[in-house]
Amino acid sequence: MSSTDFDIITIGGGLGGASLAKVMAEHGAQVLVLESETKFKDRVRGEAMVSWGVNEAKELGVYSNLRDAGGWDVEFLEVSLEAGKPVRRQLRSTTNPSEPRFNFYHPDIQESLLQAASDAGAVIQRGARVRHLRLGDSHVVVATVAGVEKEFTARLVVGADGRYSRARGWGGFQVSENPESTFCAGLLFQGMTAPDDTTHNFRIFEKSLNALLFPQRSGMVRAYLCYPMAWGEQLSADKDIRRFINWSVEAGTPKGYFEGAVPAGPLASFKSASTWVEHPYRGGVALIGDAAGATDPMWGQGLSLTLRDVRVLRDHLLGERDWAKSGHAYAEEHDRYFTVCNTVQAWHERLLVETGQEANALRARVFQLWQLDPTRRLDTFASGPDHPIDESVRRRFFGEDW
Ligand SMILES: Cc1cc2nc3c(=O)[nH]c(=O)nc-3n(C[C@H](O)[C@H](O)[C@H](O)COP(=O)(O)OP(=O)(O)OC[C@H]3O[C@@H](n4cnc5c(N)ncnc54)[C@H](O)[C@@H]3O)c2cc1C
Repeated sequence: MSSTDFDIITIGGGLGGASLAKVMAEHGAQVLVLESETKFKDRVRGEAMVSWGVNEAKELGVYSNLRDAGGWDVEFLEVSLEAGKPVRRQLRSTTNPSEPRFNFYHPDIQESLLQAASDAGAVIQRGARVRHLRLGDSHVVVATVAGVEKEFTARLVVGADGRYSRARGWGGFQVSENPESTFCAGLLFQGMTAPDDTTHNFRIFEKSLNALLFPQRSGMVRAYLCYPMAWGEQLSADKDIRRFINWSVEAGTPKGYFEGAVPAGPLASFKSASTWVEHPYRGGVALIGDAAGATDPMWGQGLSLTLRDVRVLRDHLLGERDWAKSGHAYAEEHDRYFTVCNTVQAWHERLLVETGQEANALRARVFQLWQLDPTRRLDTFASGPDHPIDESVRRRFFGEDW
């Protein structure tokens, strides 16, 4: 094998690419990670992993890396609807994997996982921007490294290049997208007085506003705000910070939490509609993480889905010598669990995000039925996508069987 010839090349060394490189290198695969960033910075990515993702991290063998990078347990979730009394839930005792949520600073876990991949024997090329692929018997990845165009070959190319993946186009995949309705804005604060053992979620139905607070260590809190695209404002940069705070308070966040809090990173917002690829393997290219399927950040599934992808792909690659078969088996599984997440997300959007009299009537009816019979609810977003979503489940969720 030459120094440019690998078993696996990952395009991107974020959570997905770096984790796959680590776990495959540990099993003796020759892995190259091509990552465009020379140093990771705050790009307003996921920093709060739900309980089922913690279980995935443990099964995959990256949990200790995340913890060493500053990850910590957040035991409670408080949800406050319509500025009402918050409902408090202890996650460790009420989720299927019996885990709390797990928060971290995203750039730190990216650095830590790439280091772990390198320690396991993967070759890490930073400042390497992939430009295109030539697919054939051996697949050629063309990248610019320090201004010089270089070619690398591999048996398997893994597109781990995120929500706006270009690997999808190079690999000939078709991208599906849900209708766009919401922006998700995020900003890191220092000195916020919100309790640090609790994730907070505040929601006002009339304005379709949803504010989330994810505590990090040392008085840092990652705040998110989801608001209608119809408002025509994509919040960004210092000029919009006051509006971000005002709208968060309108959503129900106590004003006092922001007193004395100072921004500790950039304000950025994103269109949050799900994007995905059906069957994310074809012709020697597998897609993982956001490149394969990105759900709306409001529901907090992206980190967990990314680790599920890595675990499932790893298991199929290790269990089968013919990696085309492994790729197809991974893609079939991905279709199943991603569809569960995306479908349950659509049901929650209908219930919690839509505005108007019809939506209010639906909520009133459904919440009453859920109180009588809590098994009608779906705990997918905390406990994971391993459950059916057939018509009877949908009817029970919306109380149409009553
Ligand atoms: C505002 C917001 C809030 C979120 N909140 C949550 C949350 O609370 N909980 C949760 O679970 N998830 C959340 N997510 C989702 C989560 O961040 C993603 O699911 C996760 O980061 C996906 O990891 P990834 O490795 O697939 O992609 P990314 O993290 O996007 O990594 C892709 C990597 O590829 C590199 N790259 C891209 N193109 C190239 C190229 N051509 N050549 C070389 N390298 C390249 C990039 O530099 C990057 O390092 C949120 C996302 C957003 C946008």
